[in-house]
Amino acid sequence: MPEILTSRTFQPGLDLTPLRERIDGDVVAPGDYAWDEARQAWNLTVDQRPAAVALPEGPEDVVAIVAFAKANDLRLAPQGTGHGAAALDRLDDTILLKTERMRGVTIDPDTRTARAEAGVIWIEVVEAAAEHGLAALAGSSPDVGVVGYTLGGGLSWLGRKHGIGANQVTAIEVATASGDLVRTDWANEPDLFWALRGGGGSFGIVTAIEFNLFPMVEIYAGILWFPVDRATEILKAWRAWTDDLPDEMTSVGRILQFPPIQEIPEPVRGQSFVVVQAIWSGEPAEGERLLEPLRALGPVMDTVATTPVQELSRLHMDPEGPAPGAGDGGMLDDVDDDLIDLFVEHVVGTPILSAEIRHLGGAVARRSLQHGAVDVFEAPYLMFAVGIAPTAEAREVVDSAAARLRDMLAPWEGEHTNMNFAETRRKASSLFSSASYHRLRRIKAIVDPTDLVRSNHPIPPAF
Ligand SMILES: Cc1cc2nc3c(=O)[nH]c(=O)nc-3n(C[C@H](O)[C@H](O)[C@H](O)COP(=O)(O)OP(=O)(O)OC[C@H]3O[C@@H](n4cnc5c(N)ncnc54)[C@H](O)[C@@H]3O)c2cc1C
Repeated sequence: MPEILTSRTFQPGLDLTPLRERIDGDVVAPGDYAWDEARQAWNLTVDQRPAAVALPEGPEDVVAIVAFAKANDLRLAPQGTGHGAAALDRLDDTILLKTERMRGVTIDPDTRTARAEAGVIWIEVVEAAAEHGLAALAGSSPDVGVVGYTLGGGLSWLGRKHGIGANQVTAIEVATASGDLVRTDWANEPDLFWALRGGGGSFGIVTAIEFNLFPMVEIYAGILWFPVDRATEILKAWRAWTDDLPDEMTSVGRILQFPPIQEIPEPVRGQSFVVVQAIWSGEPAEGERLLEPLRALGPVMDTVATTPVQELSRLHMDPEGPAPGAGDGGMLDDVDDDLIDLFVEHVVGTPILSAEIRHLGGAVARRSLQHGAVDVFEAPYLMFAVGIAPTAEAREVVDSAAARLRDMLAPWEGEHTNMNFAETRRKASSLFSSASYHRLRRIKAIVDPTDLVRSNHPIPPAF
């Protein structure tokens, strides 16, 4: 059995010169002028202290970084943006490999596919695809990394119609722990291709990813806003409404409590709401008809309208650029009246900025032998709560409010959660079906037996 390199220690005398001379990109070490900027994650609550930060310009650089890490008994943590950095373990013995300079995007309108290099963020693909009348299975945030999101599954506003993002991937290029550049698809390295589609970042350094796009120019979408003191009533009405909806309708029931800070726009600054976000990808008239029962509840603001499809990237009002966020989430096997009562009780008046319940089902719940490591999301709903945490004290307060909420909802929590919505470290086996988990561990043992590549949700090799 190969030795797993768990006891690596940082050598203060580490000489980075050979790597600096070898790659086009940069290598930043503790004490360097650019150190604090280089080690910063998108999530500003995370204090990353790796042995060094490497910023490759392309796949050949990545291969050289892999070779250097192995030669120096260090590990590698690939990172696109650091949206998922909260769950990463200590990095003392690790080179943080940040792919932010690898930003090429190509759209092929004939095959309706996109190719994104490792550092591309969603808005870059969304806008490039829109020029060709195409839409991608992007998530709620414009600046989440395409690769990190897709390796973890990928829940899009179009997911109920087109499925989990990872299951629309057609090829993945990866630098393996053995130092090879490999193009994986259904025909080449199919096991590795399967593992990468949902198994997270444990299986190599992805250098580029290709995936399907969908013809779509406009979408009928927006938000119905209600005063927060109607939270229980509105969320119960929304929950009942989600029964038997067509796959073209995706929706979210959400409580928003905006702090009175400059960054929040004037009309909502310092105010709280319960909202229903609705995204309808069918004929607008039919969407309008379906929304009638919710509109009859009398929203104080109604922004649901036909808009260019790229506007979906900002529907959820996720912060762009680095932000100090803390929170957590999980799948829900059911949402009933008792859950909604507890949800409202443990969110309203707490430091949680946003607590949402997303409706799943539809295509994200349909199995296929073509799918990757995350075949389906079995649970019909997903919960995520987040707050702003600019200081350590604020983080503690938000973390404990989010943890209390999760504890209260534990009786409804699904058996498996999805790593993209797990901001705390979880048992790897809780992120996958048992069969997928064991297959992932066997593949990890083959492609990276010494556990060189570290993920925020690691898969341990099994021999
Ligand atoms: C505001 C916000 C909104 C979000 N909305 C959604 C949503 O709507 N739907 C959804 O599914 N998720 C959503 N997420 C979760 C998000 O998809 C995950 O946090 C995802 O891991 C972020 O990817 P990243 O590359 O931006 O982050 P990173 O922290 O850079 O990456 C996360 C992990 O991905 C792996 N990884 C990244 N790049 C590579 C690479 N080149 N090679 C190998 N492994 C790599 C690593 O294991 C890394 O630790 C959201 C998160 C935030 C903070």
